[in-house]
Amino acid sequence: MKAEIIAVGSELLTPHHVDSNSLFITQKLNDLGIEVRLKTIVGDDEKDLVDLLQQALTRSELIVVSGGLGPTEDDLTRTAVARALRRTITKSPEILEMILKRFAGRGIAVPKINERQAELIEGAEIIANARGTAPGMWIRENSRIIVLLPGPPRELEPMFETLAVPRLQALAKGKMLAKKQFYITGMTESEVDAKAAPIYIKYPGIQTTILSNTRHIALLFSRQIDSDECPTDLEELAGKVQEILGDSVFSTNGQPLEQVVGIQMKSSGRTLAVAESCTSGMIGARLTAVPGSSEYFLGGVLCYSNDIKSRLCGVSENTLKEFGAVSVETAEELARGIRSTLGSSVGLSITGIAGPGGGSADKPVGLVYVALSDEQRTESHRRIIPGDRDSIRERAVSFALSCLRRFLR
Ligand code: ATP
Repeated sequence: MKAEIIAVGSELLTPHHVDSNSLFITQKLNDLGIEVRLKTIVGDDEKDLVDLLQQALTRSELIVVSGGLGPTEDDLTRTAVARALRRTITKSPEILEMILKRFAGRGIAVPKINERQAELIEGAEIIANARGTAPGMWIRENSRIIVLLPGPPRELEPMFETLAVPRLQALAKGKMLAKKQFYITGMTESEVDAKAAPIYIKYPGIQTTILSNTRHIALLFSRQIDSDECPTDLEELAGKVQEILGDSVFSTNGQPLEQVVGIQMKSSGRTLAVAESCTSGMIGARLTAVPGSSEYFLGGVLCYSNDIKSRLCGVSENTLKEFGAVSVETAEELARGIRSTLGSSVGLSITGIAGPGGGSADKPVGLVYVALSDEQRTESHRRIIPGDRDSIRERAVSFALSCLRRFLR
């Protein structure tokens, strides 16, 4: 089955709103083995939406439309879909009842304007909305299906999950998408591809995707299967890829690096303190985004100035003078110092040049040192990270977490 997604809303054509609904819907459809062939964003213009729907009906078996089901004049999805399908619209007593109940639950009368949301397109089935007043609709048009859902993600997501997915599952005729995923750190995208490509090109029936962001590289393999099929080729490919990438793979189940590190910290029963110069709190923020991180994360110091590096993190003035704030010597003293200041079992430090200024031939922009220290040893790592200030800082956090993961092993 081929699907397309239409996101309705002029705000989605501005730089201020992201169409995140289509990402959610794509994920869910892919899980059902349904391929998304096209996504479109259309403003609040009825004629544009009618034209788009008519084109969509000629090429896609499933059309999912999000947004434009509200009560105001610019919410025109209902009328546009009715026009595109040449169907009538009637007031549905069933929807009106749902709206009345919802407002009664809040102790207020239904505003006249919300009665518009009781409009039902001829032949449509209602998809109930437990979190809002705009119901969705499931419409069959010959062999095509059109699903209408409200725009707010907190309404759309449970509606799609609980009401649309089971119906689509039945239509997908027992097909599903089998997947294998690898999250990788410590390698560039081209290094990953150079190692994995000679293996995956031998499996032309399996789709391969490599995605890179400031947190990790994701290598994804997928193939549509029958629900009772065991994808042995996918298992075989994944086994070979895991072997060649080895320790660089930190997750095969979608867990982010900070969560993987958190599991290591918890199982070792150790505690962590951080001294952050160039990332100034970003490592702490990422670690503490994991629920339960207070079990192992004690805290940290944002040691931006040399004075704080000395006073709170125990770096000697001589070290700073002789080797500079961005040096292996400073990084190691920071890691030892923060461990002793905060009384943790492991100390992690980072110091570097995020740019755009401050670089030199010796110490270019992007140069980062990470050090780790525990009761037995102190180790440090150097890396030159490409990119602008924001991406250098984000990648530096990932680099530090990746060093921590290896240290804890
Ligand atoms: P409502 O009854 O809330 O008006 P609606 O179906 O008319 O529902 P819209 O008015 O189109 O929805 O959008 C309401 C809000 O939902 C938007 O301001 C936006 O914050 C969010 N939203 C809409 N479409 C999307 C989208 N594609 N991705 C993410 N958020 C969206």
